[in-house]
Amino acid sequence: MTTQHKRHHDIEQDSKKLARDLRVALMTQQLQVVFQPKVCVDSNQIVGAEALLRWQHPIEGLIPADRWVALAESHNLMRPLTVWLIDKVIHYLKSVGEQALPLAVNVPPTILDGAFALTIINMLSVAGVSPCLLDIEITESEPVENMTNLANAVHLLQSKGLRIYLDDFGTGYSTMKYLVDIPVDGVKMDKSFVQQALLLPAARLVLKSLIELAHEIGVMVVCEGVETLEQLDLIKCLGGNIVQGYLTGKPMSPEAFAKRIDAPLPSLDNKIAPKPYKIQAS
Ligand code: C2E
Ligand code: CA
Ligand code: CA
Repeated sequence: MTTQHKRHHDIEQDSKKLARDLRVALMTQQLQVVFQPKVCVDSNQIVGAEALLRWQHPIEGLIPADRWVALAESHNLMRPLTVWLIDKVIHYLKSVGEQALPLAVNVPPTILDGAFALTIINMLSVAGVSPCLLDIEITESEPVENMTNLANAVHLLQSKGLRIYLDDFGTGYSTMKYLVDIPVDGVKMDKSFVQQALLLPAARLVLKSLIELAHEIGVMVVCEGVETLEQLDLIKCLGGNIVQGYLTGKPMSPEAFAKRIDAPLPSLDNKIAPKPYKIQAS
């Protein structure tokens, strides 16, 4: 075996082993869910959160999301992992009762078909949790093969009251086709546009145009990756509705999120900032 072949072979073996570990992680206590607050630009109030999965590997430590997502997709683990996460989210929503705010989960289009939609609906119904409290963010790391299946699943979920968002808007394989074929409730502007908008005029123009397009279609605009008050200021000017990012809080434990909702939003009035927004940098 040449050195190059050996390296490929080693990488493949590592990836197989890590996929086995991920399967074990699903059955033991290595997975956690964290919530990142979403804040309404106009009211300054927390209006929900995105639920993200964290994998703490016993030897390798925290595995970055892009690594486990790629593994899960290539080893057929995305479905059970997403069900695991949705189960945790529903359990949390049930535990907080009437104070619950909508929580969003990431679902790749590759697993979002009619059967999966029914699974979600059934889980909500068994737990007695309102479908209005669960949002779905459609992520896209591969091109969608069957748009009709996806559109049907989305319709089914919407008919029960779930809201559907298109994630990483403007960067996916078929952003514009989605908008035509699938009547989503909102779009999430990718953090790359948000973060470059103050630095590059072209990025700012793209962000502006995408927000305008979303509003013309009549859907909500969530901007992610918002880290600074300057970025928040720009998003407000451009008409974004909801922001999410380190400025609204880094992803946190469900307990910390529950406390964050209860606590009054700290004021930034005394800090040096372009405008006295009341969202705190964490
Ligand atoms: P995403 O859905 O766009 O998730 C937002 C990502 O941006 C999260 O990273 C979050 O921690 C990060 N982030 C949030 N605010 C900021 C900010 O202000 N600045 C910067 N630089 N980053 C910020 P994470 O958790 O590493 O996830 C990365 C991607 O992995 C996600 O992008 C999503 O596509 C995927 N992912 C994460 N969790 C899940 C999951 O439970 N299921 C699925 N299917 N995909 C997931
Ligand atoms: Ca997302
Ligand atoms: Ca995103």
